[in-house]
Amino acid sequence: MYPRAFDYCVARSVEEALELLSRYGDDARALAGGQSLIPLMKLRLASPSRLIDIGRIANLTHIAQSDKGLAVGALATHAGVLTSPIVRGQWPLMADAASVIGDSQVRNWGTVGGALAEADPASDWGAAALALRARLRCASTRGERVLDADGFFIDAYTTRLAPDELITEVIFPTPRQPAAGAYLKLERRAGDFAVVSIALQLTLEKNSVCRDASIALAAAGLTPISALDAAASLIGKELNPHVIGEAAERVAAEAEPAVDIRGSEEYKRAAAAALFKQAVEVVLRRARGEKVEAGHAR
Ligand code: FAD
Repeated sequence: MYPRAFDYCVARSVEEALELLSRYGDDARALAGGQSLIPLMKLRLASPSRLIDIGRIANLTHIAQSDKGLAVGALATHAGVLTSPIVRGQWPLMADAASVIGDSQVRNWGTVGGALAEADPASDWGAAALALRARLRCASTRGERVLDADGFFIDAYTTRLAPDELITEVIFPTPRQPAAGAYLKLERRAGDFAVVSIALQLTLEKNSVCRDASIALAAAGLTPISALDAAASLIGKELNPHVIGEAAERVAAEAEPAVDIRGSEEYKRAAAAALFKQAVEVVLRRARGEKVEAGHAR
């Protein structure tokens, strides 16, 4: 289908985009990579009267490490994250997540900020941001605020962003060291959204005793969710098969998957538990310095 008619304008700076969003109000939508918004408009599930193209704003594509963590501009693409040497070297969970998003067209056009703002329940960035305790820098003509990823997603496709507000940057705080992470996605076929995905970030002493843990799931609820009970069950423990098995049961219990064409609730809960076990294995091997491919579930 064709979208309904709309006006289109290009913002050349964040300030200009914010001014246009404020001027045109609820009927206007920011257009970043267009990989969610354009398909929705073609299906007439979204019909904004004006698109404000923010995709050409030059200074929002950075991926930069500081002593506080990694700052990722809202317009950094999934491919940009995936090919960043900093991400590949030091942020394996993010590299895994970026690698499994859609196909190369989606990864080349789609942006981190757009994915978080879209708040698809199956969003790979949503789960990655929760597990990495990301903070979202947001701006409007009223000023700037920083929101935690935890609490940012309030319902399916709904966030705490105001209609005239933009995400400008996502800050991923440096995890407590020594840390390792992984992201695993179960999908029916390459390029599909997840049946269920897991993001796991651990701080490990002597490569096996858990000092900090963060677990998040995608496609396991109306929003990306944190498996807080499962994460708490790992703290202070040697990660042996018994502890991992118990935590996997908690992951399954904390998931709230919907029944859909990708599977039953029971299947998705079992898949979440199995993915968790795989993710722990990957993280433990990575903590020992092994190069392990992840992203797609085995
Ligand atoms: P757009 O489509 O331009 O915008 C999406 C929404 O976010 C709009 O409402 C827009 O107004 C708003 N927005 C955009 N940028 C900002 C900002 N900086 N601040 C505030 N609001 C903003 N995603 C996955 O996670 N996993 C997948 O496996 C996956 N597979 C896909 C397969 C296909 C075929 C397609 C088309 C998409 C897929 N996606 C997947 C979605 C993809 O990740 C999109 O890139 C992403 O959801 C939206 O990013 P975008 O830059 O394209 O945003």
